[in-house]
Amino acid sequence: MDRRQFLIFSALGGLALALPLARDAAAIPNTPSLSIVLDDAGADSHDLANLEQLVEMKFPATIAVIPRTTHEEAVLKTLSKAPYLDIFAHIPMEFEKMRNSDPKKDHSSWLEQTPRKVGEKYNPVQHAAIYAFDTPAIAVKILADDITHLNNILTQYGKKSIVGFNNHTGSLVTQDTEKMFALATYAKTHGLIIVDSKTTLPERPSVLFREAKRVGATAYERTVFLDLDVDPVKQLQTCYSILEKGKSVIAIGHIKEPATITALAQAQKTHGQYIRKISEI
Ligand SMILES: [Zn+2]
Repeated sequence: MDRRQFLIFSALGGLALALPLARDAAAIPNTPSLSIVLDDAGADSHDLANLEQLVEMKFPATIAVIPRTTHEEAVLKTLSKAPYLDIFAHIPMEFEKMRNSDPKKDHSSWLEQTPRKVGEKYNPVQHAAIYAFDTPAIAVKILADDITHLNNILTQYGKKSIVGFNNHTGSLVTQDTEKMFALATYAKTHGLIIVDSKTTLPERPSVLFREAKRVGATAYERTVFLDLDVDPVKQLQTCYSILEKGKSVIAIGHIKEPATITALAQAQKTHGQYIRKISEI
């Protein structure tokens, strides 16, 4: 505090005034950014055509690839030649109510191609998902194996590698402090960026972002969902209004959605100066 600040501080009542001023200044970043993460790459037959459109547009996004999916190799091959795109591992994690007493309502297949039954041993050649019954040590092994698996494919095509990860579903697993602390510690040690997709309900929130910050990893949390049950054009308007307040946005969409790619092409024209891939914010 310099002399002038001290005089204002004293004249206006000291600490009660000084603290809100400091907090407001810290809340406004110098350059707000809009970062788009496109999830579920590798899982759908439309992924490759949509990805090629993004490459053509030179759109700086982050593409999150699910390990051990049907189209992962084709998607990674294209990504390896796309300097504007960051590559994330999109790690499947068990979600609430995935296993139901009614066998017709067991949604395990949404998680990975060969879902594990409760307590079934993890096999790195077959599995990619973290379940609630996994120990923190096994959860870290799955994360490490998933990233190694994707990097091994990328190595065949060039020098790009996985720069971080976010969770695919995971409303059950991301509530688990010990597991999220273990994953965050691994990310910190290996220089990986974390994005908490925040697929949880407010009353039982994800703790991935909190634990990532606690261990000092580079981490962000999803601000806006762009698609599936909502209109990407409207959702992008929400992103712009946040940017106008001087705050950065992390928006998550899905690579399989053609409407999202069309909306992003328009966003690039009107707000291109704000759009940055995750590794450049
Ligand atoms: Zn996903």
